Amino acid sequence: MSDLEDLRLRMRAFTAERDWEQFHDPKSLLLAIVGEVGELSELFQWLPSAEAQRLATVDPLKSRVAEEMSDVLLYLVRLADVLGIDLHAAAVAKIEAAGERFSAVEVKGIAPTKA
Ligand SMILES: [Mg+2]
Repeated sequence: MSDLEDLRLRMRAFTAERDWEQFHDPKSLLLAIVGEVGELSELFQWLPSAEAQRLATVDPLKSRVAEEMSDVLLYLVRLADVLGIDLHAAAVAKIEAAGERFSAVEVKGIAPTKA
């Protein structure tokens, strides 16, 4: 069983045990993700970039970041389950497509652009 499959089953059981499926429509789960991304962003909000990079690798900020990242991931996994999306397969397809789009030889050390 993959890590994502384990999380999917745990979230499904957690939700069912509490009779919360009724609240887990796609729109509500998406808003929950956005809210958790906001909580994650708040941890970095006023820190200078260099300081944020350093502080996020040590406690207490590292632990708080891990908690909020987990919230984002769990809601994302739950949304994928509700929509019947194989998140691992979809993510693998995306990274493979990115590998083809951005040849390592051609873009090494160059930031990707929208152009
Ligand atoms: Mg949170």
